[in-house]
Amino acid sequence: MSDTLAEHAGDLEAVAPDDATPRGPSLSPSRAADFMACPLLYRFRVIDRLPEPPSPAAARGTLVHAVLERLFDEPAAARTPAAARTLLAPQWDRLVEAAPELADMFDDDAQRHAWIDEAALMLDRYFTLEDPTRIEPSYREMSVTALLESGLTLRGYIDRLDVARTGELRIVDYKTGAAPREEYEARALFQMKFYALVLWRTRGTIPRVLQLIYLGNGEIMRYAPDEADLLATERKINALWQAIDRARTSGDWRPRPSRLCEWCAFQAICPVYGGTPPPLPDPEQADQPLPDLPAGDLALPSASPDQRVSDPETPGSFVPARRTVI
Ligand code: SF4
Repeated sequence: MSDTLAEHAGDLEAVAPDDATPRGPSLSPSRAADFMACPLLYRFRVIDRLPEPPSPAAARGTLVHAVLERLFDEPAAARTPAAARTLLAPQWDRLVEAAPELADMFDDDAQRHAWIDEAALMLDRYFTLEDPTRIEPSYREMSVTALLESGLTLRGYIDRLDVARTGELRIVDYKTGAAPREEYEARALFQMKFYALVLWRTRGTIPRVLQLIYLGNGEIMRYAPDEADLLATERKINALWQAIDRARTSGDWRPRPSRLCEWCAFQAICPVYGGTPPPLPDPEQADQPLPDLPAGDLALPSASPDQRVSDPETPGSFVPARRTVI
């Protein structure tokens, strides 16, 4: 399930690239996850480009991300929980102005207020995990792309990139869900390794720390990638792209039922639920550059304990340590 509305919107952007976008095949972590979770879901989103109703959970993720991004516009001393809460209403208004259908997600004001209150609680939780008065992000909502030797372009948005005085990089991603159980950590880390690979390929530096901040239950997962990790990620992404290309050529987009089906907007047209998918679009479209994917069911390697990190806030450098979750 996408954490924000933007994750889905970004996929569509990849289908219809603008002039600044590479014209060859490209892939985002979210679309990669879609294919890994369920090839048919990937088809509905990327090949058929079927619309999906906005989900309150994804919209809340978008709102919380927007507030955390704007929070760092404030002077350091003013980055308080109260300031974050104050940003909620104007950011919500801005989102609704851009996508008026968001206002229709709620049956009444009480439901909308309860939803906003949940977002406020997540922001309060953020302050129990990080002290934003001690952080000066180098980039927020950073658009990144990298062209692999295979010809595939990787693309995506990094929530926050911190650069220490030593030049070390820390990639930070906010999640409004709860931290996954240990057996699912690798899937969560795939997205972060994807971004780490992009930065490595474009800057020549392997990020020191990958940091996932789970605002749903107040946990942080940190991981220190190494070169072998990122090479393995590159191989996995290339293999994934080949699998997508095979599905595109054969038209064989198989459903892969899982717990994800509970949130899937396409149950009515999914064979698993007795539905019939629409005919595939004009085959010529199969020759168009394909977009990006999200994270799903590939046998992703687990984080090895000695590579997990749990450092306190260190303005001068990012220090790898042992444990993961705070
Ligand atoms: S309902 Fe489940 S199996 Fe069907 S397309 Fe959605 S995720 Fe795939």
